[in-house]
Amino acid sequence: MAGDRAKGHHYEMLRTLTGAPDLAGLRVDAVTGRLLGARQVESPNCDDRPPGQAPELLVVHGISLPPGEFGGPWIDALFTNALPADEHPYFATIAGLRVSAHVLVRRDGSAVQYVPFHRRAWHAGASQWRGRERCNDFSIGVELEGTDATAYEPAQYDTLARIATELCRAYPGLSPEAIVGHSDVAPGRKSDPGIAFDWPLLRSLLRYYLEVRPA
Ligand SMILES: [Zn+2]
Repeated sequence: MAGDRAKGHHYEMLRTLTGAPDLAGLRVDAVTGRLLGARQVESPNCDDRPPGQAPELLVVHGISLPPGEFGGPWIDALFTNALPADEHPYFATIAGLRVSAHVLVRRDGSAVQYVPFHRRAWHAGASQWRGRERCNDFSIGVELEGTDATAYEPAQYDTLARIATELCRAYPGLSPEAIVGHSDVAPGRKSDPGIAFDWPLLRSLLRYYLEVRPA
């Protein structure tokens, strides 16, 4: 339909204008659980999902280290248990945490993978979704580099939508309706990705990649 073509053109323009990298090569390999096209950093902070459990939920997070600063090496360091406690006062408060996420989307839209998707990353903590606790068991955690109150970059929405689309195709239990924020599964305890996160933009990008431009 002409309308769909126009919509597709709009998003191509958006990507071009933002200078976002063309991540058309991002692919999920459901056999290895790898996001092809992402930089790979191995986190030890993961283990097996419950037997037979496939991903059924995508949890969107926001993170920056130190809080409000972007671009440093510290998120890699946190997820590989190598955060130097003496480098920043905030680091001393979290250096002992054993946490991870499957993927981080940096401010420029580039992606880093720490945990294969079929493994359980340690991102959600005490959590509940539709009456089910321990969301780590059945979810994929994607961090966006940012803060609750800072606008996320268009390139980050584009990458997140592409990854989510690939994940929905690789794991039939996942769907656009099963994409939530950390604050949705841990209300009162967690606030990320925060008020700055534009859910309608993510939803429209998802519709574009899933329906207008099928693989
Ligand atoms: Zn979070």
